[in-house]
Amino acid sequence: MERYVIIGLRGSGKSAIGRRMAEKLQIPLYDTDALIEERAGRSIPEIFSDPGEEVFRQMEREVIASLPGGPAIIATGGGAVMDAQNACILRQQSHIILLAADPTILLSRIQRSSRPPLTGLSALDEIRHLAKLRMPIYRGLADLCIDTGSIRADEAAARIIRLNGMRSRNPERFAETFSELNQDIPDNLINCPLIFGITGNPVSHSRSPHLYNTLFPEYTIPGRYLFLPAKSAEDAIRIMHVLGAKGLSVTIPFKELMFSCIDEPDVDARAIGAVNTVISCDGRLYGHNTDWIGIREPICDLRGGDALVVGAGGAAAAAVYALQSLEMDVTIANRTEKRGEVLAERFGCRSASLTSSTEVDLIINATPVGMKKGDGSPVPSGLLKPDTTIFDLVYTPPMTPLLREAEAAGCRIVQGTEMFIHQARAQFTLLTGIDPGIERIREVLS
Ligand code: NAP
Repeated sequence: MERYVIIGLRGSGKSAIGRRMAEKLQIPLYDTDALIEERAGRSIPEIFSDPGEEVFRQMEREVIASLPGGPAIIATGGGAVMDAQNACILRQQSHIILLAADPTILLSRIQRSSRPPLTGLSALDEIRHLAKLRMPIYRGLADLCIDTGSIRADEAAARIIRLNGMRSRNPERFAETFSELNQDIPDNLINCPLIFGITGNPVSHSRSPHLYNTLFPEYTIPGRYLFLPAKSAEDAIRIMHVLGAKGLSVTIPFKELMFSCIDEPDVDARAIGAVNTVISCDGRLYGHNTDWIGIREPICDLRGGDALVVGAGGAAAAAVYALQSLEMDVTIANRTEKRGEVLAERFGCRSASLTSSTEVDLIINATPVGMKKGDGSPVPSGLLKPDTTIFDLVYTPPMTPLLREAEAAGCRIVQGTEMFIHQARAQFTLLTGIDPGIERIREVLS
């Protein structure tokens, strides 16, 4: 189907490249900003100044919902696909093309524009701010990314039409990789526009393939999500390249090792020192960490106060980062005290032995204690007070000895499945650009 949706920040070339593509393919061009101006009989700066951005966004939703079907080029305003409803509509039966360029180039292109600023920042800082906010969603949505910084509009248009939104794959190397993985090649996978997978070792326990493969048809995402066990993080990236995969979820033991395999870790992954989500876009690998979001969301009502994190591994690092984002005062207690001290130093917080820990508002278990039959609780019962929230990151079993003891002591308890559900939502949004909402994720995983 020759239907292309062009997304990107202002100045990335959406209208110019859209026009060239429409001319070459002899199909209509719908520019959503131009359609809004036409319907309103006013310019976008006028709409922004009165009645304001909210009304503009509503008009944008109406314009996108009423776009005619069939072959077309659709050039969108920079904020259009940040709205989940718009993203879902535009995704349908379309190739999504992301145009990107360095912020300084974008600035040089929009300097003379009369468009109103969206923030009180300087023009360049506003571009950087919007890029930080929007590019992860754009990359998730995009079937193809083109850097328009150094190519002309007609070259970019020709490249998009030539690639037709598809990644190139070598059938022989594709077959070799599946034979290494000891898997049959899923039907018609080589022609699948978007391949994703979970990598780690082992991965067979993961519920992510079920989650993604259930949700893809609901959002008409032309994707397949696979089990992709690997020997190492480098091996996982090699498999990703051979399959022309768009994105990976990364699990134990590669989260820390993956960090050095990618081109651009985001600020969260850098602070935590681990990557659990990889996106390939325009030949570059972007790394994110959604574990900390999975820890923060279920307890985000607990701003401020004191917290104790038990453990000092990868999950503990994500927990400390999440708690500090909630302005909590964190103490780390770890079996190997030296390791606890090193983590505490990295995050500028305290470390202590469990026995010397005092009452806190929140305790997080970030050790595997509670997973195995016969395990006890990793937290002394004296710390379980009725005002304390106990969050056990262990999710198999859902009710651990720690949670049972905490419940009996009258504490508020949070199960490890909550972390999994919230991180899965954040990761799905990064990998696809579409937020399915927490309730749908919960339903699919229940
Ligand atoms: P990790 O890097 O291997 O760290 C494990 C930590 O647990 C270390 O600090 C280790 O202490 C401590 N530990 C291990 N066995 C212990 C024991 N018997 N008694 C006391 N402390 C012990 O693992 P991780 O990646 O941080 O994961 C930790 C746990 O978090 C996992 O087992 C999993 O249950 C949970 N998790 C849950 C989710 C979710 O979605 N809910 C996601 C990720 C992880 P030493 O330094 O002394 O070895």
